[in-house]
Amino acid sequence: MRVELLSIGDELVAGLSLDTNSAWLAQAVRRLGGTVIRHTTVGDRVGEIAGALQAARSRADIVVATGGLGPTADDLTREALAEALGCPLEERPEAMAQIEAFFARMGRALRDSNRRQALVPVGCDVIENPRGTAPGIHDRGPEVEIFLLPGVPAEMKEMFARSVEPVLLERSAGRVGCALSLRCFGMPESTLGDRLADLMARDRVPRVGTNASEGVISVRIVADGLAADEAAALVRADEAVVRERLGVAVFGAEEDTLATAVARELIARGCTVSTAESCTGGLIAKRLTDVPGSSAYFRCGYVTYANEMKESVLHVPRDLLIAHGAVSEPVARHLAEACRSQAGTDFALSATGIAGPGGGTPEKPVGLVFLGLATPDEVVVYRRQWSDTLTREEIRDRSAKAAMDLLRRCLLAGRPLLPSE
Ligand code: ATP
Repeated sequence: MRVELLSIGDELVAGLSLDTNSAWLAQAVRRLGGTVIRHTTVGDRVGEIAGALQAARSRADIVVATGGLGPTADDLTREALAEALGCPLEERPEAMAQIEAFFARMGRALRDSNRRQALVPVGCDVIENPRGTAPGIHDRGPEVEIFLLPGVPAEMKEMFARSVEPVLLERSAGRVGCALSLRCFGMPESTLGDRLADLMARDRVPRVGTNASEGVISVRIVADGLAADEAAALVRADEAVVRERLGVAVFGAEEDTLATAVARELIARGCTVSTAESCTGGLIAKRLTDVPGSSAYFRCGYVTYANEMKESVLHVPRDLLIAHGAVSEPVARHLAEACRSQAGTDFALSATGIAGPGGGTPEKPVGLVFLGLATPDEVVVYRRQWSDTLTREEIRDRSAKAAMDLLRRCLLAGRPLLPSE
């Protein structure tokens, strides 16, 4: 079942608004057994919208368009569908009744412009919009079905569930497939790709692909167009192979983050953690406490940014700071150790580095970070040189993630395990 998505609006074409509708719709369509073959975005011109609708109709079984159903003069999707279908618009009493009921509920006066929203091409059905004024339109063509939904995401989602979803489910006849994303950290994408090369062969079922975002690599396993049970069994089998080949680099699946993965391991062991941060400015503590229920494992975070505070709060010896500098292995080690004993936690993480864009030297360039992990038995320090193409924000983000990953690997292995091991 081939599905095309069409987004309508000048602000989308101009890049002033992000087309989040298409991303949401593409995922929803895939979950319901459809295959999205194309996304198109056009501005608010009848000719362009009509042309895009006609082109989509010539390629797809189902077309879902969003936007341009409002009451203003630049809302032209109704007119464009009428042109594409070669059918005139007519005012529909059921659409008018819905619009009037909405205005009555809101206690607002109906304006003449809202009457335009009751115009529907002859032969099409009206889709009720319980959250807004713009009714949707459904053309049940003999071969291709077209759905026009409002652009406002909350309205679009609710109307999709009521109008498009049942059609997709019926047409896919239970062949809704299955998909899973495994989240990985601490293994270069090229190494990961090499280990999964045979699984990633084109035309293999399930399809396996990777994509990297903000330092996290996702391995996506997709079995499309199959009965749910059969697809789930194939995806599970590939999941086991991927987990076996990537080992500890896999930290979770779907919505998991490094913080939720660390939280899970700390809670399972009844362990606690504290943080001593310099260049990450509290980001590790923030991420660890983003997880609901974090008081079970997080005790305290020190943000000792200035050297004097490293000295006075965590008792880093001045000599150490003078001899090695704040961004150094011995200082990261001391911060982690002092933090653990002062906070009375099982583990402590520390971070000291040069986030840039200024402050780098030939010996200590921007992106150099030392991450410390203190455990009940030892302290280890991981030296990481991030690429000089990363921004300050990215260096801080990757450093926070790498610190949490150090702890996660240690909890899983029962001893500190640096990513290269
Ligand atoms: P309404 O009458 O409820 O405004 P509409 O169909 O006329 O519905 P538009 O006027 O095209 O919708 O868009 C309304 C708002 O919806 C936009 O200002 C934008 O914030 C949001 N929107 C529109 N299209 C998209 C999209 N593709 N992705 C995310 N948001 C969108």
